[in-house]
Amino acid sequence: MARYTGPSCRVCRREGVKLFLKGDRCYTAKCGISRREYAPGQHGQQKKKQSEYGIQLREKQKARKFYGVLESQFRKYFDMAVKSKGITGEALLQILETRFDNTIFRLGYADSRASARQLVRHGHFAINGGKVNIPSYLVKVGDVIEVKEKSRSIESIKAVQESTRAIPKWLEINKETLIGKITALPQRDDIDLPVKEHYIVELYSK
Ligand code: SF4
Repeated sequence: MARYTGPSCRVCRREGVKLFLKGDRCYTAKCGISRREYAPGQHGQQKKKQSEYGIQLREKQKARKFYGVLESQFRKYFDMAVKSKGITGEALLQILETRFDNTIFRLGYADSRASARQLVRHGHFAINGGKVNIPSYLVKVGDVIEVKEKSRSIESIKAVQESTRAIPKWLEINKETLIGKITALPQRDDIDLPVKEHYIVELYSK
């Protein structure tokens, strides 16, 4: 599948906000956006007035890049959100948040969504007893996520036992047995995405 493989920090600098794409480095002084707080490229330091469309587009791109989702998939999620009950923007974020790769990241098994996606693809987890290696799989309330027996010795998976990272309240994990559970659907205040989702709804509703 086509995927952006360029420098991650450039993506944050383009969006003007930390998207936490590089794991632990994002929390240090080495963070690209902390060192160069302007857009990349020759004209990156020029002040530009953004049009309404420009603002809407940037908000959509931020959300898409935060979760590492391609445009076609993102559009599909938006269509699902429109059909769901409730507020479309919040439903869209809820769908993105319940992707399997994001859930593995939130449970603390990886320090970035990209690493979580890799762990999922390599088949290190089971959901309700069955192997699932599809990063875009959407988890549901009551799903139980287990680490495969052969994968328990993987460093980043073992590291969860020592991790002090907070687990969102819609998830729970037993660090001894390495069994996680989806206890609720994520609500807007559980999602630390620096995006005003109503701009995304406006963009796609034109
Ligand atoms: Fe973004 Fe900073 Fe992480 Fe680079 S280090 S990906 S700029 S948050």
